[in-house]
Amino acid sequence: MKIANRDKVREVLTDLQIPALKKFGQNFLIDEQVASNIVSLLELKANESVVEIGPGLGALTHYIVNEGVNLKAVEIDRTLTEFLINTYESSENVEIINEDFLKLEFSNGKKVKVIGNLPYYITTPIMEKLIKNSDHITRLVVMVQSEVVKRFNAVANEAEYGALSVLLSLIGEGRGEFKVSNTNFFPRPNVASQIYVFDFNHNFSNDYIDELFRFVTALFTNKRKSIVKSLEIVLGNRRKAKNIIDKVNIESNLRAENIIPETYKQMFDLVLEEDLLKTVTYPRPKKRNKK
Ligand code: SAM
Repeated sequence: MKIANRDKVREVLTDLQIPALKKFGQNFLIDEQVASNIVSLLELKANESVVEIGPGLGALTHYIVNEGVNLKAVEIDRTLTEFLINTYESSENVEIINEDFLKLEFSNGKKVKVIGNLPYYITTPIMEKLIKNSDHITRLVVMVQSEVVKRFNAVANEAEYGALSVLLSLIGEGRGEFKVSNTNFFPRPNVASQIYVFDFNHNFSNDYIDELFRFVTALFTNKRKSIVKSLEIVLGNRRKAKNIIDKVNIESNLRAENIIPETYKQMFDLVLEEDLLKTVTYPRPKKRNKK
């Protein structure tokens, strides 16, 4: 069912006797053309599998289902989930789940494409979860705040450069797509939005990426310190830190923001090779990591 227009969204919310909830970042898309354009960026083929994050009233869902794919849509709001289950009750290949996406277990089976007009209050944790589960995600199409796209795409020495930019650069290719004005939503948010497309193309295990992410994040935590000092804090040992900095051949007085993604990976691989992960000072997952 087409739902992406102001009158329809207002009518359905009134029928359901619910407001748009700020706490869940509910700003519903009210432009059919925009909804259709976003979904077309997934470049879907029949029988592919798609995961939709926060389908809401189904603005994107309609266009995804039209492509004859298998869809799993994960919505945290119970009333919206029930509305969507009723809307798609006759569609066999559509599964609507009432769950917090951040708690969703990704199955290890088929490759999936992921899409969502993200609830902005949890953009970063959602991106982290996707990155850490990316061994079976092929393409990602998300709507985020325009400002956030700058962080995703930032390169070393730019103000927005951080752990997320480093990881994304190491595991695939991303690009900012078209912008979406705040007038295309009900209720209207304060910020402008932009579409971001990312193609994962790496051979790392999820555990490897998880560990790498923790390592890079820990180095960015001490942003104002030199990289050798940050690494010393992370490894708990000055000599070992200096040794790694020498091996990757960078100046020890550089800071986290000056270091390119490939060098972060080299440093991390040396940490693995020299079996230093067991002494790092930041929290680690219980599982063993492998490449
Ligand atoms: N896709 C719809 C659209 O484009 O109109 C809704 C987008 S709205 C910006 C974000 C949606 O994500 C809302 O439906 C909200 O209830 C849902 N949401 C918020 N937090 C969530 C979470 N942790 N897990 C799953 N869905 C969530």
